[in-house]
Amino acid sequence: MEIRKIELYQVDLPYSGGTYLLSGGREYTGFEAAIVRLETACGLEGWGESTPFGSTYIAAHARGARAGIAEIAPHLLGRDPLQVDRINDAMDEALAGHHHAKTALDIACWDIFGKSVEMPVCELLGGATGFRMPVISSIYAGDPEDMRARVADHPARGYLGHSVKIGALDSEGGPALDAERIAACLADRKPGEFFLADANGGMIPETVLRMLRMLPDGLDFVLEAPCATWREVASLRRRCTVPIIMDELAQDDSDIAQIVGHDLADGIGLKISKAGGLTRGRRHRDMARASGLTISVQDTVGSAIAFAGIAHLGATVPERLLRCILDCRDMVTLDTAAFDAPVRDGGVLVPEAPGLGITVNRAVLGDPVSVWEG
Ligand SMILES: [Mg+2]
Repeated sequence: MEIRKIELYQVDLPYSGGTYLLSGGREYTGFEAAIVRLETACGLEGWGESTPFGSTYIAAHARGARAGIAEIAPHLLGRDPLQVDRINDAMDEALAGHHHAKTALDIACWDIFGKSVEMPVCELLGGATGFRMPVISSIYAGDPEDMRARVADHPARGYLGHSVKIGALDSEGGPALDAERIAACLADRKPGEFFLADANGGMIPETVLRMLRMLPDGLDFVLEAPCATWREVASLRRRCTVPIIMDELAQDDSDIAQIVGHDLADGIGLKISKAGGLTRGRRHRDMARASGLTISVQDTVGSAIAFAGIAHLGATVPERLLRCILDCRDMVTLDTAAFDAPVRDGGVLVPEAPGLGITVNRAVLGDPVSVWEG
């Protein structure tokens, strides 16, 4: 099988909640998706998406995703999309790093792979566990009582997990405000709910330790991405009894190896475009599983195409290790594809359709911004 044509689409995804506030004064009102369509010489098509969370979340941005795809695409023409590891080797030879650019192309290859053997991608990734995957909310940072109300709005919609954003600057209220936010968000906790206090790398060991001292005893939560650097996390790890989850720092295979080798965390946020796609995501899943790390399968953000990738990889993580998946469809207002995976009875099941199991809504994509053929 050979890739004959690659199309790249640029699609604006408005944020569904107005303005998203993150530590360090970062604000987002919408996101730019890079969506690719791969076509094989035998007429199969595969879709993939990579949507960076703005340009200040990790070292990724929308124009960079498109430029990276442009750099790589000519090198994939004529290659076999079913050889997913070889495809990734070819992408690495064409462009160092830039996982987010590689992601859309990698996912599209998996979509073709599944369609070519009439199996859903999750079966090719090891097989679906068959249990409903719990879904996590994303509670942006704000006033504690407003955050509490937003948490309370979610369980009725099938959400069991909550990612509570913290990381207030001193001028905004500092660690005292963050302690109030965590306490407020956990105040109405119901059985089965779990909480991640996610600083997105916006705190330092000093502010985290001060915040923890101001919290009431007995609150059940984990700290996600407390600090921006490895040194800070290593320091905090020695002085803190709250479980730590790595997210922004866990990007490469070597990052996961470092987390395990130095016992820096108890779990990872496996964001598919941060890892570089499903091929690398599969590897991170296995490294985490072998090390007893919990896994949250997510993406930086994205539409239904990105969510399909999340759901298929998430479906292959054993129940005891899968913290949650992120339903990024809920974060944007544009439907790029039909994907029959509703949040129901506390979670999501992947559909049994071949490939990603999506039907792309071509009308909302417009014309491709670039096409490569050969
Ligand atoms: Mg996170």
